[in-house]
Amino acid sequence: MPNAEAPSLPTVPVATPLANGPLPQPLAPTRPKHVVAWRRIVPFLLMQAACLLVFVVGWSPVAVGACVALYLVRMFGITAFYHRYFSHRTFRVGRVVQFCGAVLGASAVQRGPLWWAAHHRQHHRYSDTVRDAHSPVVHGFWWAHVGWFTSPDHYRTDLTQVKDLAAFPELRWLDRHDLVAPLLLLVGLLGLGAALGTWWPGLGTDALQMGVWGFCISTTLLFHVTACVNSVAHRLGRRDWPTADDSRNSFVLALLTLGEGWHNNHHWCPGTVRQGFRWWEIDISYYTLRMLAAVGLVQDLRGLPARALADERRVRE
Ligand SMILES: [Zn+2]
Ligand SMILES: [Zn+2]
Repeated sequence: MPNAEAPSLPTVPVATPLANGPLPQPLAPTRPKHVVAWRRIVPFLLMQAACLLVFVVGWSPVAVGACVALYLVRMFGITAFYHRYFSHRTFRVGRVVQFCGAVLGASAVQRGPLWWAAHHRQHHRYSDTVRDAHSPVVHGFWWAHVGWFTSPDHYRTDLTQVKDLAAFPELRWLDRHDLVAPLLLLVGLLGLGAALGTWWPGLGTDALQMGVWGFCISTTLLFHVTACVNSVAHRLGRRDWPTADDSRNSFVLALLTLGEGWHNNHHWCPGTVRQGFRWWEIDISYYTLRMLAAVGLVQDLRGLPARALADERRVRE
């Protein structure tokens, strides 16, 4: 299978302690004005409100199982593909796997792969300065957690940040039609619930219950845990590496995000596929990528530079 080579290398994932480049502005000089495009976020609010339907539809093992499974699989789509592949290009894949990873990430309802990667590359370039869209240091916790993407300023995809990805028409299409994958997932869950309710009534589920658990609850959990990497992981936790930003490491967040909680590690070496550096820094996305590499679905996982473990300039707070 041919590799999905980019026509030009991305500019962000440079494994150096100064990966963010010279800071263009001083840390948190002023807090910029925040504007929310309320009409545009109605579907997002409705999805979260629909979680309350759980008191109407009840629960069943199969519905809760779908919720957990879709949380884990789509978290992998976000962390392994949207983050470590599309944003940082820390491994290589063929074009078919690239598209499948993009669809999986898109099913998490966090916009398209180009939009996600463009904003994330900006985050690394300007971490915890006014040009970082979701810095809790500059914008406050809640804007970093749930506010920034509701702003008209961050609605569009800045293709200049993702020229390497925009070279693929199928990725541009998926980015423009970022609701297709979530809607297909929702329709699939409703259909599955209806089929199980009809042909296997002993399971105690139906269309609405599968939709509420498998889509609304699973996606809401997935969103807030992912958003914690922007908000919590730049405020709470341990700093092992002297990065220019305020990124932190958190064991609990690393478990919930399949490895992304080692965020200070990641800001220190954004060019490596690993986020857990030491054996006890659990990084499930990395272990999964190793397994996919073993069967040939992904290639050339970029490992840790030796200095990541040898550097003596580590700081602890
Ligand atoms: Zn960060
Ligand atoms: Zn990153």
